[in-house]
Amino acid sequence: MSDYNWCHGPHCHTNQTQSRVRGSGDNKVLRTIKIKHGRYNGYQNGIWDYFCNQSCLMDFIREHLSSLIAIAPRREALETPIKVVKEKYESYRYEWNSNNEHERVPYTATKTIIKNSS
Ligand SMILES: [Zn+2]
Repeated sequence: MSDYNWCHGPHCHTNQTQSRVRGSGDNKVLRTIKIKHGRYNGYQNGIWDYFCNQSCLMDFIREHLSSLIAIAPRREALETPIKVVKEKYESYRYEWNSNNEHERVPYTATKTIIKNSS
């Protein structure tokens, strides 16, 4: 296995950047970016071993979307079992009082906490 990949962005070689210019004299080209394997130590499952940047990644997804979806189609919703806990806590809000002053008024608020049931 080689220690680099070519960027899989379908339009990578059309971006006009100096880092893509190769060749000499009148035979210059814009070339796909060469990516060193493991350049970000497997960050995000190594996706950046195959794409030089987010633009190339999105171009790839747009061009191959139907193929990508066909690999793992989602035909029904997934569900995660949870426990919902309501918790009361002291909070405050501001109201105008009869003297036309902004007044801090305490009240009991409720927050919903979602907990994984597993
Ligand atoms: Zn690229």
